[in-house]
Amino acid sequence: MDLAFSPAEERFRGELRSWLEAHPLAPEPEDMGAWVAHGKAWQRQLYEAGWCGVHWPKAYGGRGASLIEQIIFQEEMARIRAPQLINLAGLTMGGPVLIAHGTEAQKQRYLQKILAAEEIWCQGFSEPNAGSDLAALRTRAVPDGDDFVVNGQKVWTSFARYADWCMLLVRTDPDAPKHKGITFLLVDMHSPGVTVRPLKQISGDEDFNEVFFEDVRVPRGNVVGAVNSGWDIAITVLMHERQTLTYSRQLQSRVALEQLLTLARHWPDGAPLAQQPLARQQLAAAVIDSEAMRYTALRNLTRVLRGGEPGPEGSVEKLFWSEMYQRMLEHGVSLLGPFGALLRGSPHVVDEGRWPHLMLYSRGRTIAAGSSEIQRNIIAERVLGLPRQR
Ligand SMILES: Cc1cc2nc3c(=O)[nH]c(=O)nc-3n(C[C@H](O)[C@H](O)[C@H](O)COP(=O)(O)OP(=O)(O)OC[C@H]3O[C@@H](n4cnc5c(N)ncnc54)[C@H](O)[C@@H]3O)c2cc1C
Repeated sequence: MDLAFSPAEERFRGELRSWLEAHPLAPEPEDMGAWVAHGKAWQRQLYEAGWCGVHWPKAYGGRGASLIEQIIFQEEMARIRAPQLINLAGLTMGGPVLIAHGTEAQKQRYLQKILAAEEIWCQGFSEPNAGSDLAALRTRAVPDGDDFVVNGQKVWTSFARYADWCMLLVRTDPDAPKHKGITFLLVDMHSPGVTVRPLKQISGDEDFNEVFFEDVRVPRGNVVGAVNSGWDIAITVLMHERQTLTYSRQLQSRVALEQLLTLARHWPDGAPLAQQPLARQQLAAAVIDSEAMRYTALRNLTRVLRGGEPGPEGSVEKLFWSEMYQRMLEHGVSLLGPFGALLRGSPHVVDEGRWPHLMLYSRGRTIAAGSSEIQRNIIAERVLGLPRQR
């Protein structure tokens, strides 16, 4: 593993830093609708300056740069504490899947609009009875002329309310073995028959949604890959989600850790927390976790740079990151003592209630993209080669 950047990569970082200094990120609005508009404008600005889709081919609006430059982009975004780009599902899953499996017409139609945040994407995989056992999904798509007609329900669909397109897994052959009769469809979220209902999370946020499909017509041209071959594509999506997305999330959790260390050193109420032995131990454990995570992520990155695709090893990263992030935030909240219970808007609130909010939000990280138990099964069976679960 070579941890040094080449002169060309350092030049790329320097250029990006200069651009970011000349285009400072405006504060994020609190209202969700305004936050989405703000996120779209920021992503569009990055795209127009050539910073979005750093690793995507130039022919589809990307920069055509290397994966290392994409990583440098993510590092710089974390350094300025920029929020995750608004079109997360499109950038980290939809786009890479179309680049790998889409037709030329699909690439031309969708990729540039994903980069410019002109069309926001969501991931319609989970159903009320198909989460960990995703292949049990029952949303049906039946051929009818040049279209499929879709009926069924998805759940936990992040950002569906703001999405223009959905990567939808549907059952097209109910008689085939369950992994075989699934198709990967791109569904226009503005089609007649699509209903989105928001769900409130423990953190008070409403990112999640239920999505209902009632006789929704989807042109056959919106199938990605072949009909009844959607399972393999879904697995590619999940591997990108577990590895590529976790890489940028671990950079963000490092920023949170640095903020926690600053708070512990400059505690506003009495002696710095950083002088208390228990707090010191917890903070030291969080720093060690974070370093271990960084090197594990770099090791996987090296494998991908040598020609590999994101694989089941990404489950190690996802599992370790999501659990360490929760531990760190739980320590953060306990360090605050009674202040840890105060949310934004409360009198005497510390750091605008960031720590309890992040801690509650982080609960979902060991569930999303496959729960910790499922990651352990994948690691056991597909990385370590242990016998399959019965
Ligand atoms: C923050 C967040 C964002 C999400 N965003 C999306 C999204 O945008 N699109 C989307 O499609 N889905 C999304 N999801 C859904 C997510 O993929 C599912 O919640 C997840 O796959 C688990 O499925 P489930 O909720 O049905 O739980 P279940 O599968 O019912 O699992 C319940 C419990 O049983 C355990 N379990 C299940 N099977 C096994 C097994 N074989 N061995 C051991 N233990 C097992 C699980 O680990 C879990 O603890 C999101 C979830 C979260 C938390």
